[in-house]
Amino acid sequence: MKELVIVGGGVAGLTAAVYARRAGIDTTVIESTGWGGQIAQSPEVENFPSIKNIPGWTLSDNLKEQAEELGAEFKVAQVSKLELTDCGCRLLTGSGDIEARAAILANGVTRKKLNCPGEDEFTGKGVSWCAVCDGPFFKGKEVAVIGGGNSAFEEALHLCSLCKTIYLIHRRNEFRAQNSLIRQVESKGNIKVITPFTPAKIFGGDRVEGIIIKNNETNAEQTLNVSGVFVSVGMDPNNAFSKGVIDTDEYGYYAAGENCRTNVPCVFVAGDCRQKPLKQLVTAMADGAVAATAAVEFLESSNKS
Ligand code: NAP
Repeated sequence: MKELVIVGGGVAGLTAAVYARRAGIDTTVIESTGWGGQIAQSPEVENFPSIKNIPGWTLSDNLKEQAEELGAEFKVAQVSKLELTDCGCRLLTGSGDIEARAAILANGVTRKKLNCPGEDEFTGKGVSWCAVCDGPFFKGKEVAVIGGGNSAFEEALHLCSLCKTIYLIHRRNEFRAQNSLIRQVESKGNIKVITPFTPAKIFGGDRVEGIIIKNNETNAEQTLNVSGVFVSVGMDPNNAFSKGVIDTDEYGYYAAGENCRTNVPCVFVAGDCRQKPLKQLVTAMADGAVAATAAVEFLESSNKS
């Protein structure tokens, strides 16, 4: 029986491990794919306070090393199910079950992809999923934002004060975005809404130089010479393994407030998998600290009772 198991080795989970180990709690972090999560894919991070510029993988490697030096254990496994037990919880994995007195779920989200040629090739070289993180790299330039939901409209609005022109490209003539966001976008002179178009190809040399889009009614193609493509076609929280045990909101994100506590006293949540207005590196780390502190309090109070 472990004291604390953390599901997810991204920045939220690794920060939670640092805080839990510093409090002397036996801590195991389980990760299925790559340590560091989303940030480990980012070549340049410029919005981490106190460090002007750092590759995302350096930041996450440092964080993992810090957790390791403090004595956290790491396990590579895919968690398929969370079950509650009399003493805490059980995590079912392909390489055996793990029982723990408390758990922090920091399992992140999966960003939906366009699946168009050039998307993978130019990721980090002009293709981005985060205007708040990467917008400043495109100051004064022309960019495209793909999607017709709230996130795409918010991305376009964020970029409009930085970029020369933003092409908001959506595959239908109707939007999922709320009317207030649509009105705000329509009021901006430098956001041009283009529908009903689907990206056909992102092209370039070392970096993105443009995008070819196809009209879904006429099949006519058009080329936009943009330096950046912001993909904003939705996200899926990786929360299926805890379905029916941990409450979620209508979009599938863990229904937990800033205290990171869930409907189950021994289970805490941290990072992008939790409902929250700003999903960023620093807010994920903040969640990790809050969730670990809450888990330590829970474990210490149950030791006394
Ligand atoms: P979303 O609402 O699911 O919108 C995704 C958009 O991407 C849709 O317009 C969809 O088109 C388009 N899309 C999906 N796959 C595509 C593809 N392969 N190629 C081109 N376009 C594609 O996702 P979201 O905007 O990330 O928002 C997620 C949830 O969070 C939503 O429920 C949203 O309301 C909520 N949210 C709320 C706020 C807020 O309240 N301020 C802010 C952000 C997000 P179709 O419309 O044709 O399907």
